[in-house]
Formats: sequence, structure tokens, C-alpha cells
Amino acid sequence: MNDRWIEVADRVWVRRLEELDQSLGLVVGDESCLVLDTGVSADAGFAYATAIRELTDLPWQVAYTHDHFDHWFGTAAFGESAVWAVADGAHYVRFGDEQRRKWAAKYRLDGREQDARRIAASRLVPPNCRVQGAVGLDLGGRTVVLRQVGPAHSDNDMVVEVPDAGVLFAGDLLEQGAPPSYDSAFPIEWPQAVEYLLSWKPRIVVPGHGEPGDYWWARSQARDLAEVARLCAEVAQGFLTEDEAAEHGPFPPGTMRTAIARWKELTPPPPEPAPQPEPARTLPPPVVVYDFFDYSVDLTGN
Ligand SMILES: [Zn+2]
Repeated sequence: MNDRWIEVADRVWVRRLEELDQSLGLVVGDESCLVLDTGVSADAGFAYATAIRELTDLPWQVAYTHDHFDHWFGTAAFGESAVWAVADGAHYVRFGDEQRRKWAAKYRLDGREQDARRIAASRLVPPNCRVQGAVGLDLGGRTVVLRQVGPAHSDNDMVVEVPDAGVLFAGDLLEQGAPPSYDSAFPIEWPQAVEYLLSWKPRIVVPGHGEPGDYWWARSQARDLAEVARLCAEVAQGFLTEDEAAEHGPFPPGTMRTAIARWKELTPPPPEPAPQPEPARTLPPPVVVYDFFDYSVDLTGN
């Protein structure tokens, strides 16, 4: 396993995982620390918790950037702790079971039987603290902000800001090294959400997958997300075909097709026009020509 730590700012850490090229977060204060996302399975979470204990022995709280399995299936390793998320516990329980089946089957299909079993055996820990709007968490000497955004990558996105260090943990709203995932995304709203969360100009932006980047990298990805929204709008107007939008988008055609399909799924078809009664047939009025000119008068003066 080549998992490693990067300290992106003073006591702000990113755990880079080989599995799914994930970036998990850790923000350490004077009295406690915040763990951001926990990995694909209880085993992955245990490895992450062990790595954290090499850095700090402060008590922890956990935050989920969203409900996709790779961001929260590892939480059992963190014991009884506050777990923050935008969606409520009932949603996570319901959606978690569905995802556990789906992803265990997918790993099995990929020939990764052991990892499939790890996912299937993970005890799921739904959140017990809800974020609506924004919550400031005092970790002792530093406050982090848990902020609800979107809908964007999902319908329950949350980002974490560390204002004193200029760091933004963006969850899967941004990805480096792979195209963003549109499977359960909101293609039209997504770029607006990213623009909003970049408005305080964070110095370092940590994506959910891939290497951390800077503000300018995040901005360029926001532009690409906006271009996807624009192409969807042009398909809606009949200005582009779906094939043209897929072939000429900022992301690979497969990603573009997923984005377009998702946009169509979210956009109800225009209502059928109600049948209009036949207009009554009326004849146009007759044309009357009045000719009062007296041809007998000689106007030439001769
Ligand atoms: Zn995701």
C-alpha cells in the first residue's frame, strides 16, 4: 500500500490513498481534530484511523462530504464520535445498503473478491449531526466551517473550509487526474456551486480524488463544469446534437454522455400543447375600389 500524507498547510493534512486515488482530510486544532471522509470499507477506515494516530492523539469528529460509499464506509473504525453530514441518518442507512450491494457486486465483477467482501462486511455508520447551511466547529485555536453546497456532484454535498490556512476541502465537486463523476450529479447547478465556494479565493483546494491543487486549478475546472452546463443548454435548444456535445466537451465523451443523460433525467419534457379548437372559417371582406376620376376633364391645359 502506497498511501501517504501530504501536509498542505499548518496541521492540515491530506491522506492520499491508492484505492480510487482518494484524498481524505485531517484538520488538527489544539484540542480536537476533524476527520474528513473515511474510505471504501471498515478496513480502509481502520488503516486511516491508525495513520491519524501516528500524527495526533487528540479526540476526533468525522465529517462526510457526501453519501457515496467511498467517502463513509470506513467510519466504524472511529468508534462513537460526532459524525457530520448534510443528509440525515435515515437517508444514509437507506442509501448505504443499496450502495453496499452495488459496489460489492462491482468489485466482485472486477475480480477483487477480497475487497468485495470487505465492502459487504463494513458496518455502516450514519451521521448523527446535521449540517444545514453552515456550521463552525471550534477545534481549539482554530475554527473550521462545514458548508452545505449544491446540489452539484450529489444532492447532499458538503465542503470544509479552513479559513486560517486558506484550505478548501471540496469533496467530489472537484477532481484531479480523472474527470468528475456525473452519475448522480446536477449538471446545470454544479458550476454555480463551485463558483460560490471559490468566492473566498482559497489558496489550496483539495479534491475528493487526485492531488491537491491551487485556486487557479480549481477555477479552470469550474470553467470546464460551466462548459458542460452550456453544452446541455445548447442540446436543449436544438442548436447541438447530443453526439456533437459529447464529442466536443471539456471531458471525455463517456463523461459527457453521462452528464447529458443525467441532465435529461432531471429535466421534465415540455408539456404537450393542449388541442386548440379549429378557428371558425370566415371569408375576408370584399375589396371595393372607388374610382371618382372624371376622365372627360382635360388636365393638360391644351
Ligand atoms: Zn462522489
